[in-house]
Amino acid sequence: MEFYKSFFLTHPSSVQILIFGALITSLWLAEGLILAIPVGKKWRHTFTNMLFIVTALPVQLFMTMFVLLEAAWISQNHLGLLQQLPRHQSILIKYVVGFIMLDFCKYLYHVIMHKVGVLWKFHLVHHTDQKLDVSTTVREHPGETFVRMCFLMLWIAITGASFELLLLRQTIQTVSNITSHTQFRLSDGVDKWVGLIFITPNIHHVHHHYQLPYTDCNYGDVLSIWDRLFGTYGKLKPDDTVFGIDTHPDTNVCKSFIKVLQIPFVSKRV
Ligand SMILES: [Zn+2]
Ligand SMILES: [Zn+2]
Repeated sequence: MEFYKSFFLTHPSSVQILIFGALITSLWLAEGLILAIPVGKKWRHTFTNMLFIVTALPVQLFMTMFVLLEAAWISQNHLGLLQQLPRHQSILIKYVVGFIMLDFCKYLYHVIMHKVGVLWKFHLVHHTDQKLDVSTTVREHPGETFVRMCFLMLWIAITGASFELLLLRQTIQTVSNITSHTQFRLSDGVDKWVGLIFITPNIHHVHHHYQLPYTDCNYGDVLSIWDRLFGTYGKLKPDDTVFGIDTHPDTNVCKSFIKVLQIPFVSKRV
């Protein structure tokens, strides 16, 4: 037991990659089998998205070293908002309040990525997928990976998130991100209740609609409460939802890994 505990605590990236890989593979297979999508067609789409792992993963792993060093230093010096709260050693403050704080930070990050022109050029790569499925989760420009990790370091400095909280958060976040990109949708009845608190596929699919104002709604990461609180919650029927982004409608560009990688350096938001 001690071995597993110490492994999970010393190999956070390995654990995430393991969970990520197992979940994404099983959901990918389920999408193909249950929704009867031809394997060849699905594989071509997935292959383009999987290439983004090759460029983003080294950045993610490199930056993780700094994130872990920072989290250790912050904890040792009792810095950050969480440390200032009464009973800050309790599980409620350390994990529950900490998780909610970090989720709000991620919401804020997503809004910033949409509203700041230069950052949007990198984030829109995620939105160029015209066929949303579980593989869209990994469609992230390495430039955004770098920016996301820099912001994470800022959130750690502000909140004082511990290493254990970050590990818990990353694990739940990864599962949530993967499931919110699947082609499976919840029934309206279930979505009505689950979506009150959590981001569901039904909610995140609206964020991937190709036109404003829907692209600029449902920014939530794990919790949907921030969109409801700050008026960015949006609904759209599945039949009216068209995936992609209107500024980059060319399917040949969106299907090409190299061309999509170049988007931040050659295009402007219309
Ligand atoms: Zn977005
Ligand atoms: Zn997405």
